[in-house]
Amino acid sequence: MAQLAEIGLIGLGVMGSNLALNIAEKGSRIAVFNRTPSRTRQFVSEAGALGANIIGCETMEDFVAAIRTPRPIIIMIKAGEPVDQQIDALRLLLSGGDIAIDAGNANFRDTIARFDRLKDSGITFIGMGVSGGEEGARHGPSIMVGGTEQSYTRVEKVLTSIAARYEGDPCCAWLGEDGAGHFVKTIHNGIEYADMQMIAEIYGILRDGVGKPAGEIGAIFGQWNKGRLNSYLIEITEKVLATTDPESGKPMVDVILDRAGQKGTGKWSVIEAQQLGVPATAIEAAVAARSLSAMKTEREAAEVIFGMPRYTFPLQDNAALLKDLELALFAAKIGAYAQGFAVMAEASREFGWSLPMPTIARIWRAGCIIRSQFLDEITKAFTEQPDVANLIVTPAFSAMVAESMPALRRIVAAAVTAGIPVPALSSALSYFDAYRQARGTANLIQAQRDFFGAHGFDRIDGLDRPHGPWGVGN
Ligand code: NDP
Repeated sequence: MAQLAEIGLIGLGVMGSNLALNIAEKGSRIAVFNRTPSRTRQFVSEAGALGANIIGCETMEDFVAAIRTPRPIIIMIKAGEPVDQQIDALRLLLSGGDIAIDAGNANFRDTIARFDRLKDSGITFIGMGVSGGEEGARHGPSIMVGGTEQSYTRVEKVLTSIAARYEGDPCCAWLGEDGAGHFVKTIHNGIEYADMQMIAEIYGILRDGVGKPAGEIGAIFGQWNKGRLNSYLIEITEKVLATTDPESGKPMVDVILDRAGQKGTGKWSVIEAQQLGVPATAIEAAVAARSLSAMKTEREAAEVIFGMPRYTFPLQDNAALLKDLELALFAAKIGAYAQGFAVMAEASREFGWSLPMPTIARIWRAGCIIRSQFLDEITKAFTEQPDVANLIVTPAFSAMVAESMPALRRIVAAAVTAGIPVPALSSALSYFDAYRQARGTANLIQAQRDFFGAHGFDRIDGLDRPHGPWGVGN
């Protein structure tokens, strides 16, 4: 019998095949299985020298037999029902101590349910968030693990060997029990939606407010990528804007339909924020903006009725404007990340996970789509104050907010004046304005609720008079 594999992987699609090659390249022997056997044969035949570390299996029985016990098996297939089917099939063949690892984009509530379902079977379940797309899977993703700490110990060596590294530090960690890893991945994706939307809104101001062509806007993002906005998303934005369509000779972005979808993790991040009662307005705005973008036909019809806005963008196209746009994007980004981390802090309490905030920021610094230098600053802020109520009140971030928020205010004001939609940027600004306002306006809401529904209220003087003298509903 050939040497047993250290780990197994089911699902040789885009992510699974790249993850398997990454594992083989880092020196671990891996057994692979795919529902459609021809894909397994093709994968092994194209693996080149890495094939020496890969055992291609065409039956589940051969696959399970090829892995050293206790067997860790990564399931990297279409999320949802197929994962349950795959787990059911595996259950018949696995033995106590074996570990099923769902590495797809699962809803963390499904992960918790699967964890519970397998609890008494002797088989351990891990829910693992993997970020970084195809390239990350092949050369180093960010890996967010949820499950028992003991089961993580069995797979830690392989996972840290394939993860991305930030200054030598692997971007992989155990984050808590059951659904913790998939929850963190969900919020990662929510933040990703917000980050991308805010970049797109700044692009919109430069395109529609200032009138710049794609290439020039790309060069501006290129400049910003050398500063505090340095990140993967800004880097690819520069590259995307600099690319020409080979068919038409026009900038590539100018021939791409302005219609994006929202599904899965982006939507779930907003739903969970709402369930937990944590404001994640910038993320919500980003998800809603995608839904609005998808309403292309309606938007076209509405433009016929209302026409294009005829207001002039009120700021001069000069170096000061570019500085303001850069700072505005930075300020809004702080708001979105602060919201994402606040959602995770509340979920940690709600689900009893003890999510380690500095570790989460640390493993997002490389490998994942939102990787950036900025996450290193978040890591430092949470390391100093792991239990702080909100990122924006840490000493380092409150200074950054004070410096950059005025620019966000000027840019949002100018965009609104010109009729340019900036839902995520303005949500981040309003979040800040509301968060730092000791006296808000919910006193009126409480009065209205008491008026029509006798819901009662707390008084500022502490007196025990929980209803107003409205004469109705009290
Ligand atoms: P692909 O569409 O490339 O591959 C899908 C895989 O799932 C194939 O191996 C397919 O097998 C298998 N599959 C589908 N249905 C079943 C089923 N009913 N039973 C068994 N196997 C099945 O998907 P990706 O690799 O892109 O995505 C895999 C997972 O990773 C998803 O959960 C996705 O959300 C997640 N993910 C994807 C990222 C990306 O950038 N693409 C990033 C991070 C996570 P077959 O060959 O037989 O059809």
